[in-house]
Amino acid sequence: MLRDTRLRAELEEMIRERHYSPEYAVSRTLRRYAKVFQSLDSTFLAERAVDIYDIEKRLLGHLLGQRREALDQLTSPVVILAHNLTPSETAALDPKFVRGFVTEVGGPGSHTAIVAAGMGIPAVVGAGNLLTEVSGGETIIIDGDQGLVVVQPDEETVARYRHEAEENLSLAKRLESLRDLASETIDKVRIELLGNIEFPTEVDACHQRGSDGIGLYRTEFLYLNAETEPTEEVHFNAYAEVVKAMQGKPVCIRTLDLGADKMAHLPMPDDEKNPVLGLRSIRLSLRNLELFRTQLRAIVRASALGNVRVMFPLISTLLELRQAKMVLSDVMEDLAESGVEFDRKLPVGMMVEVPSAVLMLDRFVHEVNFISIGTNDLIQYTLAVDRGNKDVASLYNAADPAVLRQIESSILVSNQGGVPVNCCGQMSSSPTFTMLLLGLGLRQFSVPPGAMLEVRKVIRSVTIDQCRGVAQRAMSLENAREIKSFLNEELKKVAPELAP
Ligand code: PEP
Ligand code: MG
Repeated sequence: MLRDTRLRAELEEMIRERHYSPEYAVSRTLRRYAKVFQSLDSTFLAERAVDIYDIEKRLLGHLLGQRREALDQLTSPVVILAHNLTPSETAALDPKFVRGFVTEVGGPGSHTAIVAAGMGIPAVVGAGNLLTEVSGGETIIIDGDQGLVVVQPDEETVARYRHEAEENLSLAKRLESLRDLASETIDKVRIELLGNIEFPTEVDACHQRGSDGIGLYRTEFLYLNAETEPTEEVHFNAYAEVVKAMQGKPVCIRTLDLGADKMAHLPMPDDEKNPVLGLRSIRLSLRNLELFRTQLRAIVRASALGNVRVMFPLISTLLELRQAKMVLSDVMEDLAESGVEFDRKLPVGMMVEVPSAVLMLDRFVHEVNFISIGTNDLIQYTLAVDRGNKDVASLYNAADPAVLRQIESSILVSNQGGVPVNCCGQMSSSPTFTMLLLGLGLRQFSVPPGAMLEVRKVIRSVTIDQCRGVAQRAMSLENAREIKSFLNEELKKVAPELAP
């Protein structure tokens, strides 16, 4: 391409006359070309923009040589703008250097967004075409709360965001006073506030915020970060670290939830047209029994070290749950025969994240010790909206009345069946929904450590009666927009500093 004399002259002019660095000149020019491709009507030609990015990447690789840093080996602060980042690439980022990131594809409910939140990295996932607007060196604002990216903001915008960032910092400082206080409503109803983690290192953050335990340990990240399949010892060491660190507090270990956007080096069908409805999660574990048994052995062994629970993800039929429980019993029997210590009464739970599980929950409650509602997937499967697709991201809405009815029914049926019910989807970490969930009868919340103090603040500012009133009114409304704005108005009354 550099043999093209016009392009060459253009680059030389930029470097000589405008004093651009060669890297900046290359990026700027090639992104302009990519933008032209992207604006073409033919999908085929529009997609060729990706080839231009590839040329850019290779040219920059030559120009920067040794100076080119791999994402997982950064040595100075950066903001990352990428077409896509997988959950495992995100997990490998170093929060010490990554100030924030933006991806063009994906959605706010995707695992990439969840991992970023867990690591405390500001991110907008699924911002749409953006790479053609930037070439490096611009000022950029990443507003993860609103899902907004501002390139080259004016002074007023910068000042507004600086002010907002200072306010957020001061709010975080004030919330720290809640660290050692109980998660209890004004009328003295004790709520269990647990943490969601992906890595053993996050336990510390849970402790620092006075977590009652771990409500969701997403174990698939052991796979996503590994080149080879983790052995039983790798599993066991990770679980043992968390269980010991929690010092007798409950640790709910969820079995592998691989597939869909959480891909690993496993034999997967290569022609899955619709992986979200395909071989993922418990289905994948039940098809790969050796892999499943390896993980279950490690979980069962870890149960000797503390207060462990095991939970199966994406259960959609009774048969599936029974099969999973059978494999677990089998593993326990083998370990018992070998004289290995473990908790013989290891509590077994399931996630409710598929409408079929909600509809059949009155049957399921007789076969499990606890239930955990996974709203991230429940929203996706209730509304038929891919949680990782930016083009339908506006339709992915926790406040949709159909979603709320599923949650209401799940809590009611679990409570009636005397089975503890928790909510571990991202919805339970948003203060907007805390009063509603309390009013619907939820008494256990599992949230990323970063959200724990905000949720505790709401819990400590309300009575259950007040929340029942809020829930009743919210359930009578007909659309997500009305419901969300009503809930935010109610939040403003009890904890104005947390209302958006
Ligand atoms: C959920 O679906 O709500 C959930 C907690 O699981 P994950 O986000 O890992 O799919
Ligand atoms: Mg899920």
